Amino acid sequence: MTMTATRPNHASPWVLDTRSLGRRPGSMKSYRFSALVGHPMGIEVIAIPTGGEVELDLRLESVAEGVLVSGTAAGTAVGECARCLIDIELPVVAHLRELFAYPESATAATTEDDEIPRLVDELIDLEPLVRDELVLELPIAPLCRPDCPGLCSECGERLDDLEPGHSHEILDPRWADLAAKFGVSGGSSAMNGRPPAVPANGSTRSAGVGDPDADSIHDN
Ligand SMILES: [Zn+2]
Ligand SMILES: [Zn+2]
Repeated sequence: MTMTATRPNHASPWVLDTRSLGRRPGSMKSYRFSALVGHPMGIEVIAIPTGGEVELDLRLESVAEGVLVSGTAAGTAVGECARCLIDIELPVVAHLRELFAYPESATAATTEDDEIPRLVDELIDLEPLVRDELVLELPIAPLCRPDCPGLCSECGERLDDLEPGHSHEILDPRWADLAAKFGVSGGSSAMNGRPPAVPANGSTRSAGVGDPDADSIHDN
């Protein structure tokens, strides 16, 4: 993919015009602004979503070969915990330091534009740079907390949502028969047992006036 011919969209919040900076080496300008994310910035499991904002705190410096961009890009990535699958938000900061070469510079003549980006019509497109640097800061397996215990291997619930020491009584089938014989409730039915059903007449206060047959109006 060649980017030389692509003129950055001047209206994009990611594009800076360097004309006011000038080309005198040592000339500097600071920029502080936020830019809206058009396509998710990140990886499949965690990214700054479309519509998210990236705060840019940048310094542009005119050097012999082009414009040196340095500073930070910060945003909030969203995704899910790799262990317990809960939704998470993760602040992410990338440090930027990149030369945008003048098209007629020796640097431009001796490098590919996917190695060193170019100024095009005096414009700098920060989006690809910020995207690349932010991706590097994101964890491949994001976690809600470093020691997230994940999910219960038996019931699939988040262990953080369960009582400490949560476990399932696994009965040997041979003992299960015996337990049933003695009226001991066995295995999983004890774990997800429901409270006893409310008698029909227990719900008449929410039913129609004086209607004793509560069952028939449950789904009104
Ligand atoms: Zn987790
Ligand atoms: Zn469990």
